[in-house]
Amino acid sequence: MTTVAAYAAPAAKAPLERTTIERRAVREFDVLIDIKFAGICHSDIHQAQEGWGEAIFPMVPGHEIAGVVSEVGPGVTKFQVGDRVGVGCMVDSCRECENCRAGREQYCVQGNVPTYNGIGRDGEPTYGGYSEKVVVDENYVVRVPDGLSLDVAAPLLCAGITLYSPLKRWSAGPGKKVAIVGMGGLGHMGVKIAHALGAEVTVLSQSLRKKDDGLKLGADHYYATSDENTFKELAGTFDVVVSTVSAPLDFNSYLALLKTEGALVNVGAPEEPISLNLFSVIGGGKTLAGSMIGGIAETQEMLDFCAEHHLGAEIELIAASEINEAYERVQNSDVRYRFVIDTATI
Ligand code: NAP
Ligand code: ZN
Repeated sequence: MTTVAAYAAPAAKAPLERTTIERRAVREFDVLIDIKFAGICHSDIHQAQEGWGEAIFPMVPGHEIAGVVSEVGPGVTKFQVGDRVGVGCMVDSCRECENCRAGREQYCVQGNVPTYNGIGRDGEPTYGGYSEKVVVDENYVVRVPDGLSLDVAAPLLCAGITLYSPLKRWSAGPGKKVAIVGMGGLGHMGVKIAHALGAEVTVLSQSLRKKDDGLKLGADHYYATSDENTFKELAGTFDVVVSTVSAPLDFNSYLALLKTEGALVNVGAPEEPISLNLFSVIGGGKTLAGSMIGGIAETQEMLDFCAEHHLGAEIELIAASEINEAYERVQNSDVRYRFVIDTATI
């Protein structure tokens, strides 16, 4: 076991503070990673505040981890000391079920082991990336390609894959009109990735405050959802709408923006249920779908795609002492566009 410094929430809704945690000794197939950067995802806040239900405390959040391998177990074949690597939202799964075998480990029928706020298959609680080091089985570690620096790569491990996976599955590409709802951490990566895939991209944001940025990141159009005319003007326009919004939305209005047989794909995880009029989907034969992160191989594919297209996240690098302030800013939609913790400051 190694004692490492970390930032943890001692209880639900309590401010995060510096502490120490134990990391397990490296096992046969483990790699020890010196964490360099950790992104702050809105999911960290939902969980630290128990917005999704009962959670495990103390909680060390962080599932957008980028770092360098500093030790490998004797059975490790994929990584060597010095490799630049990433870890996302899961650190294990059963590896035997239909989904694990199909590379959809995130949907493991036994439940994947989340990077934090989870219990490992060894019965021990998991702790995330707001810390100096982490030990992870090599099968749940991905390689950060040379073309991406680690700070802007970190957010790709959750925000990047969460948009890449549904955009690919729903065929975002040339000739397709795609709308991204919410220009936050997930949304801004959605704009970049959908643009790189060749789709015509529209941002639907609460206001026009971030319009210039959206257009620079690759959006072709940018509308404010606070303006009622937006919904009139864009009715029946899109092949795919992806919602990244962290709060409940009126999905009936967003379904009306789809073409016949278009798909509204939700990746946002609000704490409250929504109300849906089912006539919004039956008229027009529309699909309302969900998507959760992506599998390990797909995460590697996403990183390679982002490196090839020079797509890192737009980040604001912060010291660990600024985490609580960053949480408040994320909750106020005041993030441009991902806070990343420099873990050297923990
Ligand atoms: P974020 O950076 O806070 O971005 C969310 C964006 O949603 C905000 O920037 C804002 O965009 C918009 N928004 C917020 N409140 C709103 C409201 N009341 N009405 C309308 N729009 C609102 O959060 P994130 O890290 O991107 O995460 C977004 C959501 O996805 C969270 O619920 C998170 O837990 C979830 N998530 C899901 C997955 C998955 O696998 N499915 C993975 C990661 C995260 P504008 O300012 O442009 O309006
Ligand atoms: Zn996340």
